[in-house]
Amino acid sequence: MTFENYNRPFLFAGPCSIESEKQIDSTIKALTKKGKVDLIRAGVWKPRTRPNNFEGVGKIGLKWLVNAGKKYKVPVATEVANAKHFELALMAGIDAIWIGARTTVNPFSVQEIADSIKGTDIPVFIKNPITPDINLWVGAIERIKNAGISNIIAVHRGFASYEKSKYRNIPQWNIPIELMRILPELKVICDPSHICGNRNLLKYVSQKALDLNMFGLMIETHCTPDEALSDAHQQITPDSYYNLINSLIIREANPSSGNNVVLDDLRTKIDDIDDRIFTALAHRIRAIKEVGDYKKKNNMTILQVERWSEILENRIQNGKESGLRDVFTETILESIHNESVYQQNLILNQNNIE
Ligand code: PEP
Ligand code: MN
Repeated sequence: MTFENYNRPFLFAGPCSIESEKQIDSTIKALTKKGKVDLIRAGVWKPRTRPNNFEGVGKIGLKWLVNAGKKYKVPVATEVANAKHFELALMAGIDAIWIGARTTVNPFSVQEIADSIKGTDIPVFIKNPITPDINLWVGAIERIKNAGISNIIAVHRGFASYEKSKYRNIPQWNIPIELMRILPELKVICDPSHICGNRNLLKYVSQKALDLNMFGLMIETHCTPDEALSDAHQQITPDSYYNLINSLIIREANPSSGNNVVLDDLRTKIDDIDDRIFTALAHRIRAIKEVGDYKKKNNMTILQVERWSEILENRIQNGKESGLRDVFTETILESIHNESVYQQNLILNQNNIE
């Protein structure tokens, strides 16, 4: 399969894991009934964080998956984590594979898969690594590309974090956006299921992914999600899946119809505002340096914490009055303050180690 012929959004759906022949048959039957699925996903080897959980049915599941795919005329994909998995998947007649987040993080494993994949042209989906390290993601893509694979799709599934969050894996949208910027030809899809870890946020994350011009979605679906042996909280029924897909608004990055004069005008305005913001920032840094000279002469510390608290409170209050969110003003100020401390440290100590 190649992806050029698919319309956005490319839809990749199916259960987290294959649990039985009957389960995979009925899920694919329900998903293909209404026709809105381009590729079926189902794991047979499950990389669980802790042992003694359901770790997949293994090799026998490949046969069930391939048979059901043929029966309902839809291509099927599974996760591979090593060369052995890949060989078994290929022999069983799987149409596409994905490399999971716990594998992308390890260049040894990715290279092992790349070596075994050489000479085939199977489509490969590459999830982002668990850690927010774009280079590991790009590196995995390069390894698979160097093995001669032409159909590669990146999958954004969010990033693990110690911080408490409403997400199971924090989206950190800036990372897939940066990936799209440095590899503009690469297609990127989103896996809202593993980002959310629950059903409530799926629609919000799916719509946001499409509005960032991602190519498609991977969504975990199960006929009886509450009884699923893995990822029960985030899986949805085929019916909810159709409702979700039907509720999404598909927007184009560069619509061919209409002219873009209005957008061009607005962008010119934004360019102009950015110019003024950065000119003002350059002024501020010059002033900061003068303050640094004064502090040096008068043997003063860089930080006077009362002054910093006062700035924060006052700017956040002013920002709020102009409609800016507190968190936004605070993030910008912290960034400016970090640079100020850096510049003054340079002046006071003639050195700096960031
Ligand atoms: C999966 O897709 O079932 C899976 C294990 O995902 P991830 O690698 O994103 O955790
Ligand atoms: Mn899962």
